[in-house]
Amino acid sequence: MSRAALIAYGGWGLLTLLLIAGTLTSLSQAERTGRKAVLARAEIGASAVEQTMLRVFEAAQTLQTLAQTRGRLVDTGNLAGVQAIDEQLHDDVSAKHSGIEAVNIYRRGRLEWTSDAAGWPGRIAGPSVGPGDTPPTPAGLQVGAPVQNAASGRWSVQTTWLLRDRAGAEDGQAVIWLDPMALSEMIARQSSGPGVVSMVQRRSDAVIIARSQHLGRALLERPSAADPAFVLARQAARGQLEDRTGGVDRLVGVQAPESVPIVVTQSFNTAVALGEFFHLRQIVLAVMLALAAGAFVATRLILSNYLLRERLGEQALRDPLTGLCNRRYFTDSMARRFVSARRDGLSAAVLLIDLDGFKQVNDTRGHPVGDSLLRQVADRLRLCIGEDDRVMRLGGDEFAIVRLCQQQRRDSTSLARFVVSELSKMYEVDGYHLRISASVGVALYPSGGEQLTDLLRSADIALYFVKAEGGDAYRIFDPAMEETVRTRRALEIDLRGALAASQLEVYYQPLVQLEPRRVSGFEALLRWHHPVLGLVMPGRFIPIAEETGLIAPIGEWVLRQACQEATRWPANTRIAVNLSPVQFERSDIISIVASALRDTRLPPGRLELEITEGVVMRDIGDVLATMRRLQALGVRLALDDFGTGYSSLSYLRSFPFDKVKIDASFLADLHGDGGTIIRAVLGLCGHLELDTLVEGVETEEQLHWLRVEGCTEVQGHLFSPPRPAQGVAEIIANVAARIPAMAGARGYATQ
Ligand code: C2E
Ligand code: MG
Ligand code: MG
Repeated sequence: MSRAALIAYGGWGLLTLLLIAGTLTSLSQAERTGRKAVLARAEIGASAVEQTMLRVFEAAQTLQTLAQTRGRLVDTGNLAGVQAIDEQLHDDVSAKHSGIEAVNIYRRGRLEWTSDAAGWPGRIAGPSVGPGDTPPTPAGLQVGAPVQNAASGRWSVQTTWLLRDRAGAEDGQAVIWLDPMALSEMIARQSSGPGVVSMVQRRSDAVIIARSQHLGRALLERPSAADPAFVLARQAARGQLEDRTGGVDRLVGVQAPESVPIVVTQSFNTAVALGEFFHLRQIVLAVMLALAAGAFVATRLILSNYLLRERLGEQALRDPLTGLCNRRYFTDSMARRFVSARRDGLSAAVLLIDLDGFKQVNDTRGHPVGDSLLRQVADRLRLCIGEDDRVMRLGGDEFAIVRLCQQQRRDSTSLARFVVSELSKMYEVDGYHLRISASVGVALYPSGGEQLTDLLRSADIALYFVKAEGGDAYRIFDPAMEETVRTRRALEIDLRGALAASQLEVYYQPLVQLEPRRVSGFEALLRWHHPVLGLVMPGRFIPIAEETGLIAPIGEWVLRQACQEATRWPANTRIAVNLSPVQFERSDIISIVASALRDTRLPPGRLELEITEGVVMRDIGDVLATMRRLQALGVRLALDDFGTGYSSLSYLRSFPFDKVKIDASFLADLHGDGGTIIRAVLGLCGHLELDTLVEGVETEEQLHWLRVEGCTEVQGHLFSPPRPAQGVAEIIANVAARIPAMAGARGYATQ
């Protein structure tokens, strides 16, 4: 996913969140408004009922006034007046309006008048103040708790009114019975909607005396103290209340008139009153939830996609075979780390590691073994490095370590040495015991370059020098190396065109048989006539040809050229041609030699192929097979430069050589160990019936010594330096005879 897409998705997620937050805020605002409206409605409802209630009590108060007047008329003996009032009282109570059910008048401790002839036995008993009555108001009014008539089962609420005589002294009570059912019906008629209107005693343990709904149950069960009507009655508050007693959310309007010890409440169950709103809110919340879930899922998808990309990105930076970071990591992440380390003042070193002899293991033991070996190399490298170092596999058998350190030279040198020694220890892969070595090129910042890639290039140059010197070592890059490499690269480019430009020429140096003295053959030695550098010796360009693979076409050309030339020589004169290990390892070497012989018609027995120890040190089975096939063609094989490198006398027995050429270096040290070694090798070869030739004979003294030691064949400037083909005839004719005179020919040595 692109950065733009990420931003777009992120923006969308943010918008969704904002939308959800906005909606939630609006919903809560709407709920508040709804609650306010319900509360206002409750308050108004309670107020309307309050008016009704006050009318009931006004009517009761009228009866109280009548009762008081009656008492005074009784005291004055105005019987006519008393009778009129009795009728009035009777009519008013009989009218049953305002929920007034019965009136008893008590004076001086006895019932003086009752509206109910049958009487209310329980009530006539007396106007005493009961435990459920409210405390008297200033006007002398008390309201009792609802009581049930045991006989009829009817409920009634007793209100007790104080009566006074003319002097204003307390004279008796008018007990006026209210019917809670009738009151309830009245308020039920008045209230509308789902709200419950209650009339409640204004006391701490108040009871309901009328209610718009389910009154019978309320009276019977004595509603719990948690009932909002009670709670409010206790508080005697006026106005609006949000009540959550008993876990039920209620919106309540309250009216508490001063003249009557009763509180009127209208209470709405919020869930019912705002039912529609809540329903709508549920839908909106569900939509929001779906949106949020969608946003969540989308975000997760985006995130997992992003993480997947991160993981893939991570994988792209790893080498699947070894698990090490790869070249891409080196050029991307490592380069960034390097830049910041440089800023922090740290120094850096790059170690470029190349395995010596890995290709052979891979070719001879197979790729699975090669892969396991690389994994083991990676494991060892992991153990070699420190915390701040990074090891990477750049490809093939090439690894790199980047070290960011304070004291670079000492650190990096010891690390390079450690790597070389660790990697050259024995490996065990699939039952094989393998040994390889490692070459390490080290480049230090800043002498090796300012950028990481420059350092890698410098490390590569240093590595080249290690390789050129035989590997299994490390070298630190030195700017002078660059010049050498540049010259070498230029030479490499020129060499590519040398063959086509006819700049190559084969020179011939005689091989001289001592008893009887004669030219037994010539060694073909290549020369390059460089247009600018002049005559370039093989020591300078053969290694380049070997590395670049140019040795194959060049070597074949030398072989054909030499065989062709040899056909012009006497039949008993051999031609010795050098074969590079690179040529020897090629699968087509047999057919190349065979076709050169066929095309030039040179008898195979006249061709001698010189190979060095570098060849025999490779895989024994393959080398032996190739040697045997070459010998089967009829050609002879000589072991060249014997005594240099890892010379082992066992090679002489293990490989079917026809001749051994003892390296010139021993002759130079004739009076030291060189002489002893030559003597020993000559003796051994005589014993093994191998021909011997000593290279680099330059003086009469050397020749004499060799003759005494029984050497049969020699080669050297004493007889002739390598010469162009035209000189061969002359050499053949004169060499044997002119030996003493030839000593002066040394001046050709470098030609
Ligand atoms: P090499 O095969 O050991 O050849 C002998 C080298 O010793 C030649 O060096 C020769 O000029 C030199 N030499 C002979 N007599 C004397 C002497 O008395 N004193 C001194 N100091 N040197 C003497 P050159 O021609 O420079 O060749 C060097 C090496 O290059 C050869 O060593 C051979 O390994 C390689 N080479 C030359 N031509 C070819 C070629 O066509 N193919 C391959 N693969 N390698 C070649
Ligand atoms: Mg040679
Ligand atoms: Mg040699």
